[in-house]
Amino acid sequence: MTAQIALITGANKGIGFETARILGRDGATVLLGARSADLGEKAAAALAEEGIDARFVHLDVTDPASVEAAADRIGAELGRLDVLVNNAAIAGSDAFDPATATPPSRTSPALVRTTFETNVFGVVAVTNAMLPLLRRSPAGRIVNVSSELGSLTMLTDPSVPFYETNLLPYNASKSALNAVTVAYAKELAGTAIKVNAVTPGYCATDLNGHTGYRTAAQGAAVVAAAAVLGDDGPAGAFIAEDGRLPW
Ligand code: NAP
Repeated sequence: MTAQIALITGANKGIGFETARILGRDGATVLLGARSADLGEKAAAALAEEGIDARFVHLDVTDPASVEAAADRIGAELGRLDVLVNNAAIAGSDAFDPATATPPSRTSPALVRTTFETNVFGVVAVTNAMLPLLRRSPAGRIVNVSSELGSLTMLTDPSVPFYETNLLPYNASKSALNAVTVAYAKELAGTAIKVNAVTPGYCATDLNGHTGYRTAAQGAAVVAAAAVLGDDGPAGAFIAEDGRLPW
């Protein structure tokens, strides 16, 4: 089988980096998207030392010129893309601790807008730019890295442990990302491209001040599994480690 070509946004650290590592160990050519050339080059070099075909791609998901340039480069160098992992995101809040997080009533629209620029609009920009390359794959996979905090069903259930984690910018951005996932999945139904949202679970990363109880590698395993789904796998689903989640 031809080696897979996978682009992971925000891959210089955290769950994105670990996802690149898992896919790379499985033989994929991994394109590590990063907005910092220095951090991206270092991350790609670290994976290359492990024998992985890892290449840094400059990609700031909020910068249309950078997104277009990345798509042009991948097209020119590799001609197609098999996997797109929309992983890059920002917390958009000062804290994940409900005791200290800013409540919605004191959250500025500007912060919500900034958070959506990366977590939602960035995904739309990157997906639209990469879709022509994904259409050239025999089995394209788009994985949007979402969160349980984007599930309106779970957030309105007082019995869920994170019920009090009421982070307006982040939670709303991930609910919007879930809606974005459904929209693309509908358009691409009947093609070779599957679009799903996944949650890695609560992992210790910079995003949450390393408060998560799972490792980034454990979270990445969920993301990577959705990136290599077989043709009989789900599309338009919200996937966690233990199965599907409610929207
Ligand atoms: P992280 O360690 O903070 O990594 C986030 C990555 O996104 C970094 O590489 C960051 O780059 C990049 N990024 C941010 N803005 C960007 C932009 N404009 N363009 C390109 N890259 C950008 O966080 P993480 O926990 O690994 O998060 C990865 C994904 O998992 C996110 O979608 C997050 O919402 C999701 N998630 C995480 C958890 C968790 O518990 N950690 C739970 C559920 C979902 P810089 O280094 O340049 O900032």
